[in-house]
Amino acid sequence: MKRRIYSWKTSRIGIDLGGTKILGALVDEAGNVVTSLQLPTFSDKEASQKELLSSIISIINQLIKSAKKEGQTPQGIGIASAGIIDQGTRTIRYAQSLGVKDFSIGKQLEDIFQIPVRLCNDTDAAAMAKWQKNNNNSDSFMYVSVGTGIGAGIMKEGVLLQGAGEIGHMTVNREGGICPCGNRGCLKHYASGPAMEEKVRTGHGRYAEMTMPEIIERAENGDTWCQDVLKEGAHYLGLALVNAVHLLHIKEIALGGGVLQEGEFFLKQVQTYVHRYTMPFMAEGLTVKRSPFKAEIGAVGAACIMR
Ligand SMILES: [Zn+2]
Repeated sequence: MKRRIYSWKTSRIGIDLGGTKILGALVDEAGNVVTSLQLPTFSDKEASQKELLSSIISIINQLIKSAKKEGQTPQGIGIASAGIIDQGTRTIRYAQSLGVKDFSIGKQLEDIFQIPVRLCNDTDAAAMAKWQKNNNNSDSFMYVSVGTGIGAGIMKEGVLLQGAGEIGHMTVNREGGICPCGNRGCLKHYASGPAMEEKVRTGHGRYAEMTMPEIIERAENGDTWCQDVLKEGAHYLGLALVNAVHLLHIKEIALGGGVLQEGEFFLKQVQTYVHRYTMPFMAEGLTVKRSPFKAEIGAVGAACIMR
């Protein structure tokens, strides 16, 4: 096998902290993944912040070892995390999926490794990875992840709007149910994977236990109940995206995350809605596409943010 040539001017480490796994990658100057590895986020449900930190330390140690084999010393560690991030203090203020609150991860890792550490939101990191790879048709785009939650990373004229893009908590129904964020009718209660699963399961019988991959497959094969639920979710998502386009005048929407991994039905519904309801001038040249799903996207973006 031909050995890949890496661009070794600098190397960085990127870590993607998710609810189910921690993925780490050693990334070269051009954003190529040299090596990557992962650990489950928690060995058991009672795991503490301390255990989470020790898993991250173990991944970083292994990546530093890999870098040394290449004669490299990583110049930075970027951490991408779900939740509310304070970039100044490099603290995860609150991440429901990780079960952490006021976790000063940046400072703790910097004290241990003596390498600069930056912290960012995971969808910001994904947008950054997409930008670094240059696989976009505009310098104003939005990467939207639709999975357990919904979040967006926004690049406007080549500048990442860090900390923006809490699209999952955009109000899409002011008469809707109460969200833990304190608002009503947030998008995530209509278009996230768990929200659509819950809706499908109200169909009882064979639908009672259905999970997202099966729902997507059934919708593709013409199951009208699954199609109705996906269509409703897609239209709520479309509504939020149209609002975002009108606010930001972005030219490209890249859709990623678990809900968009397979199938055409949901994607087509979103595309149709966005093109139908975006103002004509703003709809010119606007694209809504699926972003190729790469497990390492968050880690790569986090590493790129260290540039
Ligand atoms: Zn909310």
